Amino acid sequence: MTTQQAISLEFFPPRDIAAQERLVRSAKQLLALHPAYVSVTFGAGGSTRSGTAETVKLMQNLGCDAAPHLSCIGASRATLGEILDAYRAQGIKRIVALRGDMPSGMGGDAGELHYASELVAFIRQHSGDAFHIEVAAYPEMHPQASSAQADLDHFVAKVQAGADSAITQYFFNADAYFDFVERVQARGINVPVVPGIMPITNYAQLSRFSNMCGAEIPRWIRLRLADFGDDKASIKAFGIDVIGKLSQDLLDKGAPGLHFYTLNNADVTMAIWRQLSLDA
Ligand code: FAD
Repeated sequence: MTTQQAISLEFFPPRDIAAQERLVRSAKQLLALHPAYVSVTFGAGGSTRSGTAETVKLMQNLGCDAAPHLSCIGASRATLGEILDAYRAQGIKRIVALRGDMPSGMGGDAGELHYASELVAFIRQHSGDAFHIEVAAYPEMHPQASSAQADLDHFVAKVQAGADSAITQYFFNADAYFDFVERVQARGINVPVVPGIMPITNYAQLSRFSNMCGAEIPRWIRLRLADFGDDKASIKAFGIDVIGKLSQDLLDKGAPGLHFYTLNNADVTMAIWRQLSLDA
């Protein structure tokens, strides 16, 4: 890892006091490794906007640069403007701008902005350059995209609307990432596209997530995980080895950094991070 390659971490808002205590313990352990920033999800798994704002405050109080995720689905421009003003007043300098997903089974009002590119444009129009804007990227294509080409066009639109950098959906195939970055660069887009890194700790959960978000679990990984059955220790050791090698490969071949989906747990992310070579 070179000095230009930055590590960032993602957390989600805790649901209760016990989960908050666990989050603080995990965050303190991980912050000792000096991430460039931490981000806090919004809306995923039913968390609330105030949950995101409170968790961001908690992270700021722990002394780190914290970036809330902000999604536009179901929101009005007025509400989004108020949220941006509040974040600015709170000293937030970075936002992860997303479309988000409608909670399943909830029909109704999708809001005034329908795609993340519109949210990025709105943030720039409302807040100028007050925020560094991150957007999502999908090396294996967003599941709702009509084609890989259309998805790339939509990614380019987010950058042209004012995004500064991107974090990818997780993937286990480094070639998909480098192919995506090449195609982005061929469009004249040179923003950093940071790989999102998902630890492997629970096969059933990973399988469910991957089906939803369109991340492919390679057959050999599926087969190895299936062999381990309920043997959590072996799954964990295998996951650290596989994801550690993927992370190192990405850094060695020039990825601008890594963004860890920590799932609010320190130990696996710490184990992977510690095994990265610092002098690639
Ligand atoms: P967009 O970039 O708007 O794309 C969504 C889909 O619409 C794509 O298929 C795209 O190709 C298509 N599209 C875009 N523009 C157009 C257009 N003009 N016309 C037609 N089609 C178009 N979800 C949460 O709920 N909370 C979170 O905190 C959260 N954090 C995330 C963090 C990262 C790093 C990533 C990768 C994802 C995260 N997600 C989160 C999931 C995300 O909200 C979903 O993947 C969502 O379905 C798409 O959001 P987006 O910002 O990528 O949308």
